[in-house]
Parts: sequence; structure tokens; C-alpha cells
Amino acid sequence: MAEQPRDVAQIVRPTPTMEGAGVRLQRVFPGPALDYPDPFLLLDHFGSTNPADYMAGFPMHPHRGIETVTYMLEGAVRHTDSMGNSGVIERGAFQWMTAGRAILHEEMPEPRDGLMEGFQLWVNLPAQLKMMDPRYQEILAEMIPVVHRGSDAVVRVVAGTCDSITGPITDIAAQPTYLDVTLAPGSLFEQPIPRGHTAMAYAFRGAGAAGGAEGASRELAAPTLALFGDGDSVALRAGRDGLRFLLISGLPLYEPIVRYGPFVMNTRQQILDTLAELRDGTFLR
Ligand code: FE
Repeated sequence: MAEQPRDVAQIVRPTPTMEGAGVRLQRVFPGPALDYPDPFLLLDHFGSTNPADYMAGFPMHPHRGIETVTYMLEGAVRHTDSMGNSGVIERGAFQWMTAGRAILHEEMPEPRDGLMEGFQLWVNLPAQLKMMDPRYQEILAEMIPVVHRGSDAVVRVVAGTCDSITGPITDIAAQPTYLDVTLAPGSLFEQPIPRGHTAMAYAFRGAGAAGGAEGASRELAAPTLALFGDGDSVALRAGRDGLRFLLISGLPLYEPIVRYGPFVMNTRQQILDTLAELRDGTFLR
């Protein structure tokens, strides 16, 4: 069967949202336009030069049933959690946190040189792994391999494979691809994505186009998400000022979900059980 390039199925613009203890951010989804590009539950883009927009941070809060994925472009996030871990996710670093059955954690912004910008992605866990032991993988900036395609593209490979270079995040149920791609003006970027996987590109700098064999079927100006339809590969093309985007893909679950804030389970009863455990102090067991 011939290779089929994916078209763009949907274009989504982020919505200004208030989260945590009063953090202003751009929510790409969920929203009225796009709720759940299975297995991805949420994508937030935070960033501001005004500390009042983010310094309240995300004080101690629980999670269950999901993975939270943080990537810092500028500034840092200091975190502590109920497993006794603590650390700082610095500029260019990455954390893939699997909440599993229960975690309590705090995520507090620390600007560097007045700057703070990054992303948080939530990834659903399959029903059989929702109550797994919590864990996380934390990757320092210098541990993320960089692929150079001549002068056309610079690709930080966090998860998945690009040009036979595999990223350091491994052993994740969603079999994710997570690439940070910087394209030179006018250049074309093509990347195979397994057929059946959900794929999307979030443009956060510059402008260009995405979809089809030439990467030119739909215009894209940051900040914008392009959700791809099915196929074997994606293509994006930078405009005259270049384009930088996250390319994210993963294996859909096709399972029912019930969301309640930081908990995502399969049934309403599982959410009620979670709230009861929080009330009676058995959430962490
Ligand atoms: Fe959190």
C-alpha cells in the first residue's frame, strides 16, 4: 500500500484560561472546539513576562489515572511530591510524570532572567494501568538528543524516533512521539507517524502550513494546533519567518473517560471512590 500523507483534520486556537492558584495560560484543549484527541486529555501553553501571571503556581494537588508531561522552554518549575521526590525542571528540560493510582504534588514557577514559558500535556492511562504505582522520568536539557537536517530543521527528540535517533522517554503506554521542531524559513519537514496513532502539531513560533504531501494544505500561525487525520506521515512547511512547533503523537485508547479536575477515570463510580479516599485520608494508602 502506498504511503499516505496525513491531511489536517482540524485547526484549533488556544483559549486564555486561569488555572492552579491563579496562573494565566493558553489552553489548547480541552475546549469547545476539541475535547479529547485520544489519548491526549489536555494541552496548556504557559508563558508570560509578567510574574503576576504565574507566581501563584500550582500548590499541592492530587492526580489519579493520568500522566502529566512538562516541557520548559524558559524559566523553571520547582516540584515536590508525595513519593518524596523534589527537583527543578530547568530551561529545556522535560518531565514525564505517571500519576497512576495516586500522587500529590506541587509545581511552582521560578523565572530565569524574567522569563517563564512551557507546556503541560496530560496523557490518559489505559484502564488496566490507571492504578499503577506512580513514577516519573525527568530528563535534563543536555540529555535530549538533537537531530539536524542540514540547515532546514533542528529537532529535539524527547520521545519517539526521528531519523533513527530515539528520545530518552521510554516505556510509556501511549507509545508517544514528542518532538520540538525548529524549521528554517521555507523548509519542509516530514516525519512518519504510525497509522492509527493520534497526531498533532502545536505551532508556538512563526507561521507556515501543515498537511498533505507538501505540508501546505492548511495555514498555521502561532499559536495554533493542527490535528492531523490518519495516514502514514505528517508534513509541515515553514513560512518566511520560520516555524517552531511541538509534534506529538500517541496510541488512542478507545475507552470511556470520566474527568473530574485532576482525576481522569473510566467510570463515575471510580471518581466518587477517589473523592471518598481523599476525604477519609486513604488516597495515598
Ligand atoms: Fe499537577
